Amino acid sequence: MAIIDIAAKVLRKGYVCDSCLGRQFAQLLSGYTNEQRGRAIRQTLAEAIDAGEKLDVDLSNFHSFKFRQQKIKTPKPSKCWVCSGLFEKIDELASRAAKEAAKVEFNRFHVGVVLSKDLSQQEEKLWEAAGIEWTESIKSELSREIGKRLAAILKKEVDLEKPEVVVLINLAKDRVELDVNPLFVYGRYKKFAEMPQTRWPCRECRGRGCERCDFTGKMYATSVEERIGKTFLAASGGDDTRFHGAGREDIDVRCLDWREFVIELTKPKRRALDLRAIEKKINRANEGEISVSGLRFADRDEVRQVKERRVDKVYRVVFEVPKDARITPADLKKLGSLKGTIKQKTPTRVLHRRADIVRKRKVKDISAKKVGRRVTIEVRAESGLYIKELVSGDSGRTSPSVAEILKTEPRILDVSIVKIYSKS
Ligand SMILES: [Zn+2]
Ligand SMILES: [Zn+2]
Repeated sequence: MAIIDIAAKVLRKGYVCDSCLGRQFAQLLSGYTNEQRGRAIRQTLAEAIDAGEKLDVDLSNFHSFKFRQQKIKTPKPSKCWVCSGLFEKIDELASRAAKEAAKVEFNRFHVGVVLSKDLSQQEEKLWEAAGIEWTESIKSELSREIGKRLAAILKKEVDLEKPEVVVLINLAKDRVELDVNPLFVYGRYKKFAEMPQTRWPCRECRGRGCERCDFTGKMYATSVEERIGKTFLAASGGDDTRFHGAGREDIDVRCLDWREFVIELTKPKRRALDLRAIEKKINRANEGEISVSGLRFADRDEVRQVKERRVDKVYRVVFEVPKDARITPADLKKLGSLKGTIKQKTPTRVLHRRADIVRKRKVKDISAKKVGRRVTIEVRAESGLYIKELVSGDSGRTSPSVAEILKTEPRILDVSIVKIYSKS
């Protein structure tokens, strides 16, 4: 269909603004706004009318023109019947959105739009009348045009791929909403005290608070996540944290080498955090219990990478053998035979929450020394080996084991991770 014919159809039923007219030709030529396209086409049509062409259009669309050849009465236009004058108020809408967006800190954003039912219906009607050959949707024009204005007002960047904030113009509810994406920070931690890695909701009440948990909603008073998260929440004004560790250690296992993590802060109000200061603050507040290092900003991809990391660790286990056990240096040497594949059925202590399967994990190196009844072993193992069960044998569910080889019942006194390799 000729451009002129499409334009005439757009302008047939009543007044249509430049944006709504030009939008029907959005896919033609680049470097113009739809408003500019609309103005140009309207002028072309006005010239055709002045030249004597009989176009079937609503003449209020040409109220702004001075005709030279024809004596034409053009009535004053009412509001654009497609957008009800929305595009005339686009600057107003943008400054309202800017005001809302200024409540949080960000650099990259994009604009989302929820159309009112009315607006969608009018757009449909226009498309029925004039076709959709070169058109663009109201939604996409609005989000682009408001995006441009917001970028200018706020001096921020539009980013469709990884926005920190989505400014949602909800025309259905006449509201501007902010969808703030989480902030991710990478770091490494050591743990010297007894605590779980992540917040552990009370099993009884699932976090609501009950007698068992002393109305804290938690199984344990604190965790690595909470110790680190507290400072981050205060600095970012965020809602909550999610903690993603590169593997985890038991509550009573100390982690004496740096373990990687990514902490996710939900709905942060501030993103330009002084990570150096935060690191110092965490370390000062948690002296002797946990410490962090190497904090830097990360993204969601890194959460997956950190969680998938499978690296060897060296565990140091101190255990005591019964009084009557007679362990000779030759016996200790036999522990070398643990090198190789260990078969572990799911440990009895975690059977209530994990499936009963057999895992095969490798012990790559082991050394042992004994002072009195105390034996200290250092074991380099593949990621995922249950170290306590390697020692105790878990009633034969782990085999071979230290207990099996020494033919005794070791009582574990201390478990520490002394080295985490960076590659497996
Ligand atoms: Zn309009
Ligand atoms: Zn509880």
